[in-house]
Amino acid sequence: MSGALIDGEAIGLRIRERTAAAVATLAQAHGAVPALAVVLVGDDPASQIYVRAKVKNTQEAGMRSHAHRLAADAPEAAVIALVAQLSADPEIDGILVQLPLPEHIDEARVLAALDPAKDVDGLTALSAGRLLLGKAGLRPCTPTGCVILAQSVTRDLTGAHCVVIGRSILVGKPAALLFLEQNCTVTIAHSRTRDLAALCRSADILVPAVGRPEMVRGDWVKPGATVIDVGINRVPAPELGPGAGKTRVVGDVAFAEAREVAGAITPVPRGVGPMTRACLMRNTLLAACARRGWETPGGLEG
Ligand code: NDP
Repeated sequence: MSGALIDGEAIGLRIRERTAAAVATLAQAHGAVPALAVVLVGDDPASQIYVRAKVKNTQEAGMRSHAHRLAADAPEAAVIALVAQLSADPEIDGILVQLPLPEHIDEARVLAALDPAKDVDGLTALSAGRLLLGKAGLRPCTPTGCVILAQSVTRDLTGAHCVVIGRSILVGKPAALLFLEQNCTVTIAHSRTRDLAALCRSADILVPAVGRPEMVRGDWVKPGATVIDVGINRVPAPELGPGAGKTRVVGDVAFAEAREVAGAITPVPRGVGPMTRACLMRNTLLAACARRGWETPGGLEG
């Protein structure tokens, strides 16, 4: 029997709809709506697609969207100046710097210019510190989406063994801390981990965030486990017909094999990806409420 499919598109849509309803209520009460600024540097095709989707979702949620596009060779100082200007702008509630930035730009220096109160991606040092300290704050979107998806299978994650593969500051580390916050027993695996397959087989919740197509095989999955596949990998797809350059997107998990064993599994696409955008919308609303002194609406959970 194959595992249940976790529909990130549907769960993400529900969060976006609840965010939109809250935005409408706040607009009536206060005569203003939250605004999200997105900063894109360069012309990376994947980043352009992500930014377009984020702009569209922001507008659909009834919020204001400001997209700032800079050339790939924009000097670091120009990017920092833009982020500082947006941080100082009282009309802007959330700022998202689309990563990765071109190589000549130091991400840490750019993020240091970002007002933590507007850090809707949860990537500044202050946001990361608040997460580590267990204090309220803006949480990174993709890891938050992973927890919500796991909770859609089992509401209470207490005591579950969660194995996160990957230790990046963007996904792996915050995901581990967020699952810990849910009282999971968390193991963080990485490229130096010994016998990764055996470790994965001990996971009740398996969260690969690596960037290696279909690395996690079916026999790495514990029967009945929940698999949340964060990976987004573009691979050649000759089956799509003749012509060079045909590609498709796969996750870090060999989906068909793993589904045979898992209790529940996210597909790629339509799994974690839509949750990242949904949590971004929610974070923008939360940031606006905190900054403007508006009461935070309830019922925004997944
Ligand atoms: P990074 O490259 O920053 O981190 C990858 C992590 O995987 C590292 O910690 C690395 O370990 C680990 N790793 C690499 N090879 C292996 C291996 N053979 N075995 C075990 N661990 C390994 O990537 P990100 O964290 O930024 O992203 C991870 C994936 O998630 C990518 O596919 C990315 O596209 C996707 N992603 C998806 C999002 C979504 O919305 N769905 C959002 C963000 C990212 P080490 O530290 O030892 O090098």
